[in-house]
Parts: sequence; structure tokens; C-alpha cells
Amino acid sequence: MTLELHILGTSSARPTGKRQVSGSVVSCDEGIAVIDAGEGFQTRYALQRRRLKVHEKGTTLRASKVNVVCLTHGHLDHTWGLLPWMHTMALDKRAVPLLVLGPTSPDVFSALLDSNTIPEDAPNAELARQMRSWQSLGATSAELGYDVRWVLGDVKSDRWLELNAVTHPFELEQMPQPEGWKKCRIQPLVTRHTVPSCGWMIESRGSNGKFNRLKAAELKLTDAQKTHLSSGHNVTLDNGVTLQASEFRGKPRPASRMVISGDTAELSDGIKNLSEVDVLVHEATFLDEAQEWADTYLHSTSTGAARTALACSARHLVLTHFSARLKDESIPIQEAVDVAVDAELKVSSACDGDRVRIDEYGGVHHLTWHDDRWTS
Ligand SMILES: [Zn+2]
Ligand SMILES: [Zn+2]
Repeated sequence: MTLELHILGTSSARPTGKRQVSGSVVSCDEGIAVIDAGEGFQTRYALQRRRLKVHEKGTTLRASKVNVVCLTHGHLDHTWGLLPWMHTMALDKRAVPLLVLGPTSPDVFSALLDSNTIPEDAPNAELARQMRSWQSLGATSAELGYDVRWVLGDVKSDRWLELNAVTHPFELEQMPQPEGWKKCRIQPLVTRHTVPSCGWMIESRGSNGKFNRLKAAELKLTDAQKTHLSSGHNVTLDNGVTLQASEFRGKPRPASRMVISGDTAELSDGIKNLSEVDVLVHEATFLDEAQEWADTYLHSTSTGAARTALACSARHLVLTHFSARLKDESIPIQEAVDVAVDAELKVSSACDGDRVRIDEYGGVHHLTWHDDRWTS
């Protein structure tokens, strides 16, 4: 199965001339996940769809295919575009349910469950505050006309609650997965930022290669023999010839893992402990020289992103979330490459509109949007 990420904003904190704030879309065979939706998200989403219409016929990224919005944290450059886009989907008569997931703190989690309140000392950017205010501005199932589930998690302890507009918040047995998804899973990852935060992994299950029915039919195999071969066992025919099960299967499809860090200090627990990550999209707000700032504001440098990529044995690192001060993207790439010099790690940097695809055989392709087209 192919996983394809569309990076719609690569700037940290505020938009610049050529970069907008955070927002990404990941599509798989089963649907679409949105990871963060900063200011202007719906405009950028519509723009990407127009680009696809011109350059990539057949890929439509229809909003009705979006099953889930995964927020990494409550800073407005990651969330401020969600409400207007939800209203647009209501105007477009969306009928399918939407799941919104995001992280909160243990204190807020408890207060919501106990008394349906948000402690006063919770930060302004607390997602529970935003979800409540969006609900008061009409982002409820009743007013939008499509089902919306608001789910907050204390990610470290893996506890989740539902925060809808009508009932007292209640705890869920586990984090819900997008409706109808069977082969792809969403997983939150513990990260470290100035407010409750998490990264997100989208993982598609691998599969056996396709069973060659035609070949089985040509050999006039019985149903029992076909079942045997397709479950991986060799079959010996009456004439003594042994059929190898492996020769009746196409190439196996490997599992794919795409990780989006959101804002975080380097080597966060949730990411560094992963393995076999195909693509790590990691923030690199600062250059290596500003490590002190990164430590103070709980962001990463380009080299910190590379250290994280090495820790989770990522095959491809995509740097993003650049400071408005950055003039030349080749510098953070070079810094990251220098850290990973002995590893088989590919490093690239993201521009708004880029696509990063993991194909069904595990190949990774970063298509850069430049001069009105994508180039690899
Ligand atoms: Zn940010
Ligand atoms: Zn942030």
C-alpha cells in the first residue's frame, strides 16, 4: 500500500514569503489523515488539490476522504485553521464522520473527567480550551450536520477521553482509530514541547504478495492444493513434482512507517524508541549554532533531527518547520548529513506543496514542488 504525505506548511510560528505554517495531509488506500491544520489550512489544501488536478490526474485528495485530524499540540500555528475548514466541509454537505485527536496534560485530563473543568493554570494553548471554544462557535455534530468526535489523550499514560458538547467527558478504553481503517493505523508518540504534545505515526501493514491464481488454474490444481500453496506450504503432485509455494506469490509488500514529529525537542521518547521508520518528518526550527535556543524553547536543531533519525533507524529524514530567519535550506541539510555521515540516511528539506511517498515496495520518493511542478 502506498502512503503519501503532502506537506502544506513548513514555517515555524508564522508565515513567511514562501512558507506557510504547519499542516499536512497523509493519504493511504483507506482514507486521509490530516496532521495539524494551522492558519489558512483550507486554502492550502484546496491549492494542493488544484495542483494535483493539473499534474497528477486521478489523485484527488477529496475532503470527504479525510477520516481523522491528528493535532500535535495546541500552538495556534498548528491548529488555527481547523475550525474554518470544518465549517467549509459543513457547507459542502459533508456526510462522513470526522475524528479529531490531540494531546492534553494529565492535570487537564483529570479535571475534565472529574468536574468537566479546565484548570486555570493550564496554558492558553491547551487543546481542551480550543476544542471547547470551537464547540461554542458551532463545531458540534448537531450544528455542522456531520458527526465529529473530539478525543483528547494523556499520551504518556495512553489514556483517552471524549469531549463532546453534550455529555460529561468520559474515558475511552483506547484511542479510537479512524472509522473503517483496517490496514493502516495511527499511533501517537510522546514528544517534548512547551505545551502537551505528541508526534504521529501512520503505519500501513505489510502483506504477502498476490497469489497467482492463473498459474494455479493452468496446472489444474485442486482447491485443497491451492489453499495449501497460498498459505505458504509446498505441494507435491502425484507425478512427484514439488511445487514451491514461493513461486506462487508475487513480491511481498513491506509494512511502511511514516512519522511526523510536530514540535519537539530532539530524541523524544516516543520517536527515539521506534525502529524501522521509513520516513521521519522532523522539525528543525533552528540551525546547529542555536542549540541553546532549541533547548530553551523545546524545539530541535537540524543536527538534533538527524540524531533522532539515527536513533529510530529512519531511512529518510525530511526537515521542516524552519525559522523565518533561514535563508538557505542547504545549510540544515548539510548539518544533518554531517551527523549521519556513517549511516544510510537520506536527508531532504521540505517546501510547501512537497509530496513524500512510500511506494508499495518500500521505496521512498520526495517530490519537491518548485517552479509550478513536482520534481524528484
Ligand atoms: Zn510550531
Ligand atoms: Zn509549538
